[in-house]
Parts: sequence; structure tokens; C-alpha cells
Amino acid sequence: MVFNEEDENYIYEVIGKNVKKYRKLKGWTQEKLANEINYSLSFISGIESSYHQTFSLGAIWRISKVLDVDFAKLCENENSSSFKAKYIEYKCNKCGAESKFPIKIIKHFKNIYELANSKEQPSFECINNDCDGRMYPKNPMEL
Ligand SMILES: [Zn+2]
Repeated sequence: MVFNEEDENYIYEVIGKNVKKYRKLKGWTQEKLANEINYSLSFISGIESSYHQTFSLGAIWRISKVLDVDFAKLCENENSSSFKAKYIEYKCNKCGAESKFPIKIIKHFKNIYELANSKEQPSFECINNDCDGRMYPKNPMEL
């Protein structure tokens, strides 16, 4: 199902997809997530299903806490053009992990580098705690 952004079902669908994504990134089953927040398994599968199930802000807040994901990130539609325009894709040079960083932050670091006369592109520590690699832009940056 694809909902129009004007439709309130849209935000339920976006959040549902994000809950599924971040749950899987953590390696958790729906059951594990349900147990962590004391909700039923059918509630979690309802959130993640494409037949939208309404849920409370409080439930999503708890999910963001146990999944350790920024609440706002759960509300972002990564497929929307406005989202893509604000982020740059990065990739780790060791483990290959990928992540997106906000352009605002990257520009901030770039300014600092330039003040120090460095032509280096801003890079970040790998998002993977077990990896000591660094993350670099996947594509040449247009800043
Ligand atoms: Zn890495």
C-alpha cells in the first residue's frame, strides 16, 4: 500500500517500515521487541504490517528507546526526495557498514577542516561498535 503524504495513514506506514528496519538491524525478532516493551506480538506485527494499525505516540517512544534509535528517525521516510537531499551516504572502509549523515553536520566539519587548511573530506568513526574503521562518502561529495 502506498499512502499519499496528505493522508494520516502515511505516517503510520513510514513508522511501521522504520520499526521493522531498525528491529532487524538489531537482530531482534518481533517477539523479542514485543517482550522488551511489554506489548503483544500481534501489536508489533500490526505496526509493521502494511495494513496500517494505529498506535500511540507512547508506544513508539518506548520502541525508539529499546531499539536505541532516535525518535525522529522513526518518522523519516528515507525514500522521499526531501530526505535524500538532506543526507549523504557513507560507507565504512573496513566492514562496509553503510549509514547516512545529515549534510548540515558534514558541512560543519568541512568548514572546520578548511579553517585548518585541510582538503580532507569529513569522515566518521564506524557506526559498528566492534569495528575500528572509518566511514567515507560513498560518492564524491558535492558540497
Ligand atoms: Zn566498520
